[in-house]
Amino acid sequence: MREATILVHAGRDPRAETVNPPLERASTILSPSMEELDHRNQARARFEETAPDYGIHGLAQHRAFYRALCALEGPQAVGAWAFGSGLAGVVVPILGLVKAGDHALFPDNVYDPTRHFAENFLKRMGVAVSFYAPNEGETIEKRFRPETKLVVMESPGSHTFEMTDVPAVARACRRHDVFSLVDNTWATPLFFKPLNHGVDVVVHAATKYISGHSDVLMGVCVCNQATWPLVRAAIDDLGQAAGPEDVYLAYRGLHTMRARMQVQTESAWKIVHWLQIQPQVERVLWPALPEDPGYAIWSRDYTGVAPLFGVVFRQDCQGKMAAFCDRLRLFGRGYSWGGFESLCIPSYGMRGAPSLPFSRMVRISVGLEDSQDLIDDLSQAFAALA
Ligand SMILES: *Cc1c(COP(=O)(O)O)cnc(C)c1O
Repeated sequence: MREATILVHAGRDPRAETVNPPLERASTILSPSMEELDHRNQARARFEETAPDYGIHGLAQHRAFYRALCALEGPQAVGAWAFGSGLAGVVVPILGLVKAGDHALFPDNVYDPTRHFAENFLKRMGVAVSFYAPNEGETIEKRFRPETKLVVMESPGSHTFEMTDVPAVARACRRHDVFSLVDNTWATPLFFKPLNHGVDVVVHAATKYISGHSDVLMGVCVCNQATWPLVRAAIDDLGQAAGPEDVYLAYRGLHTMRARMQVQTESAWKIVHWLQIQPQVERVLWPALPEDPGYAIWSRDYTGVAPLFGVVFRQDCQGKMAAFCDRLRLFGRGYSWGGFESLCIPSYGMRGAPSLPFSRMVRISVGLEDSQDLIDDLSQAFAALA
């Protein structure tokens, strides 16, 4: 099946009588016999897909969603899970892969809360943490120590948009028996499939494009054979589960993600091209632009571009970003992205070099509005920069 068809059909039980899985809510799951209950319990301990023995291990909509995520991430995918937030979906798999005494590498442009977790919680657990420049490829090897266990990637960075050569880093990791994990929220499972490029674990903030309607907080992870037992054990030990309604909504969002992304991206192209010719704009940060430093990697590995980009204004616009955002009527002012409504917020950064001029940058998430209405709105807000 081709991807558009997978998105529609993946996960559904072929014997099902309804198009959508009936919403299942349960803590207790009754078994017809003690023998069957024992069988389910033991099968689960071996990570085999079976009818669950308890609600936390996944209900009907959870199992359908997990099958769909595995189908989308490619043949290396053996297990998927959903968490109560995107952040939980990043940090719980990490906790499954490292232990006290290990060393883990994070990109300098990593999502701020992930960075906070690495610098505080992980260090407190006895894991050494260091950071690398996101544009590093196979040269990451030079940063490996005998105790290095994990390299985390996030490409592109969600405020700064630098691309990492994921296949090159994954190759270096394989050579040294180091696990690799990619936060692939921006690309979604549609535009880049890290497991097909030698990565061990892919995570997404399903809060963004997968659910797509700004009403669900969720993280998902998809693991290969080597990492699934370790990640699954951390999930069980930490009692991680996403609620039935949220999983139902995320699975529902997944079915229409491709159509939403197509329309939003088409709009994003028009808006980006318009922004590029405005005298107040210095440059747009978006790896799909041929002049972008990440373009070579993006065009080699990615099959699409997400409708999220950064705008760097000229020097004399410094300090006017809040006024610019305040003046917008159609673009919402708020965190997160990937929903149906357009958003625009000033960028911020707490990472090290190479630093961008954050005091004259905004990040735009393009939604499903008419692109000309969005351009008109931006156009009137440019007056605030005068
Ligand atoms: C939003 C985001 C997260 C966290 O998602 P939440 O649901 O807000 O916790 C993680 N990684 C990236 C790249 C994100 O953009």
